[in-house]
Amino acid sequence: MEYVKCDLCGSEKHEPVARQTDRLHRATEEIFTIVRCVECGLHYTNPRPTLAEIGRYYAAGYAFHADAPGWRRRLDRTLDVLAKSPLAGVEVSAAARAALTTAGIRCWPNLASVPPEERFGLIRMNWSLEHVHSPREYFSFMARHLSGQGQAIITVPNYNGLIYRLAPECVELPVHLYHFRPEDIVAYANQYGLSVVEAKTFSYPEMFRAAAEVGLLPPVFPARQSIGVAIAIRDFLKPLDQLGWGNDMLVVLSKSRRENQAGRDA
Ligand SMILES: [Zn+2]
Repeated sequence: MEYVKCDLCGSEKHEPVARQTDRLHRATEEIFTIVRCVECGLHYTNPRPTLAEIGRYYAAGYAFHADAPGWRRRLDRTLDVLAKSPLAGVEVSAAARAALTTAGIRCWPNLASVPPEERFGLIRMNWSLEHVHSPREYFSFMARHLSGQGQAIITVPNYNGLIYRLAPECVELPVHLYHFRPEDIVAYANQYGLSVVEAKTFSYPEMFRAAAEVGLLPPVFPARQSIGVAIAIRDFLKPLDQLGWGNDMLVVLSKSRRENQAGRDA
């Protein structure tokens, strides 16, 4: 385990917000703490498993949001980068990298090994930024590797979402190291000269069922949902999504207009 300072602003001052064990996947019974940076408001897990330790906290077959087969899912969980045409990716598993290479997809084991001259038209991070040890490395990567007109599409849980307002401890711990709000993503983007093209929040009714099933929500939320209840919850959530209270968010980033303009003028 390691104690860390705020990845966004560097402050060491933080206060506890919630404590919880791994109620969702039951990979461990250890208790983890979510803290809030008193300087910038970023929420993060602290202390946390080190990079060398984190693997054993992933339950076998871990994939909360996945509906895709193995290697594809693993690719999504780290980072997709799309060059002009062929698909490319960053993938930590050597076995998965071998499968990707066989499929004709270029891939690298980590961000640092992507050649500095590579530029990508689309960088996609699907529910992966909350798992990484240093989000700023990924924003730095986007700033350096997006093409002039390129976009980065990020989906992450929204810690401002209704479910986290009801139950701040209703989080996948310890594998979620960061608990972003929309303003945190904007703050990171601004630090690296990226601008927000689009941002919205959304929700899955299933998440309420899964959280209620393991006792993470007040009893008013049923652990068993009929299709009728699921539809009613979905309809109830829609207006909240528009208020920014959806439990997940999608943010599209691009290089700032000024940089694009400078690039065209050059
Ligand atoms: Zn901070």
